[in-house]
Amino acid sequence: MKRRQHLQRLYRWLQPLMDLFFPPRCLHCDKVLPGPEQQVWLCQGCRQQLKPLPLSQAKALVLDRLETVYLEHLLVGWEFTPEIRSLVHHLKYQKMPGLGIWLGSRLANRFACELNRLDHLKILPVPLHPIRQREREYNQSLQIARGLVQTLPKLCLLAKGLQRIRATVSQTGLNRQQRRENVTGAFALAEGWKPEGANLLLVDDVVTTGATLNECARVLKAAGASRVWGIAVATPPLDES
Ligand SMILES: [Zn+2]
Repeated sequence: MKRRQHLQRLYRWLQPLMDLFFPPRCLHCDKVLPGPEQQVWLCQGCRQQLKPLPLSQAKALVLDRLETVYLEHLLVGWEFTPEIRSLVHHLKYQKMPGLGIWLGSRLANRFACELNRLDHLKILPVPLHPIRQREREYNQSLQIARGLVQTLPKLCLLAKGLQRIRATVSQTGLNRQQRRENVTGAFALAEGWKPEGANLLLVDDVVTTGATLNECARVLKAAGASRVWGIAVATPPLDES
């Protein structure tokens, strides 16, 4: 513990020096970020390119296209523009867990009214398979969930409500049916937890066809969950798969 405190002190001392030689840069266009922008990951120009996704669009693009829908509601922060793609890529593959917390708090600000509509809302991140989590060192959806709870403390985080019991291949490049088959039977409740009567909010980074969130919702509903909502950072434009 002492060693950790010592390292943290050293890091705080070194940080201004690091910023001087390796100043924080915009994760999308690589422009050096001036002082006030350093905590926001994107330069002002790239932030202005972010396109909030209207609630009705999230429904039309994802929920209305599912065969059987187990989710009651879906909140999606932004369109999957190149700027958001850069953020999600860094969150998943460049070991930047703090970026997930920032995205979660942005989602919380955006959807505070919606999220306050349900009482006793519990937040569940979509789990990674343990092997994937070891490679990545953290679950990006859990980081987003932490950001949501930090900003809206009345939400309750259930970090380990669900578990991934089967390793799945990446959904990227799969068509709609393949995506559904890929995740069927991949999730189970964590041992000892019963979601009976609970209002739940599932968190994922990107929602495409909705197959993953819907499969998690199916498992939760089968175990007696009352309402299951989903929330994600972004969704890509409609494809024909
Ligand atoms: Zn930029």
